[in-house]
Amino acid sequence: MLPNPADRLRERGIQVTAQRLAVLRAVDGQPHVTADGVIQAVRAEIGAISVQAVYDALALLASEGLVRRIQHSGSSARFESRVGDNHHHLICRSCGRVVDIDCATGDTPCLTANVDHGYEIDEAEVVYWGRCPDCRQGDGPPTTRG
Ligand SMILES: [Zn+2]
Ligand SMILES: [Zn+2]
Ligand SMILES: [Zn+2]
Repeated sequence: MLPNPADRLRERGIQVTAQRLAVLRAVDGQPHVTADGVIQAVRAEIGAISVQAVYDALALLASEGLVRRIQHSGSSARFESRVGDNHHHLICRSCGRVVDIDCATGDTPCLTANVDHGYEIDEAEVVYWGRCPDCRQGDGPPTTRG
């Protein structure tokens, strides 16, 4: 499990505030949450907070490596606090549900590019697209996005 949010902020030298704690907790609680989802969760926890304050907190946490921002074509940005393990994502084309996939053979082989052009590579953006079991069962996209 993840260490508690306050400790993770302190470890990075980030001042601990109620807003930052609530944002980090929201991302912990809902992996691959959208910014809108974070805003809803934070408002439920601490009450009024501006949209800009949530975006600012997310940007700070992302730049400090506490959350990872993922943006896939055709969908809004999502945030997760499972960072630093180069895991990949499997996305349902119909409902947009995202699940984590560990690196195919464990040892981040996708970071070993045949030609690295002199770059130091630390992450590979691998996305698997398909249809989730729910959508396959219904044999069609659901009427609402999950
Ligand atoms: Zn689906
Ligand atoms: Zn993930
Ligand atoms: Zn991989």
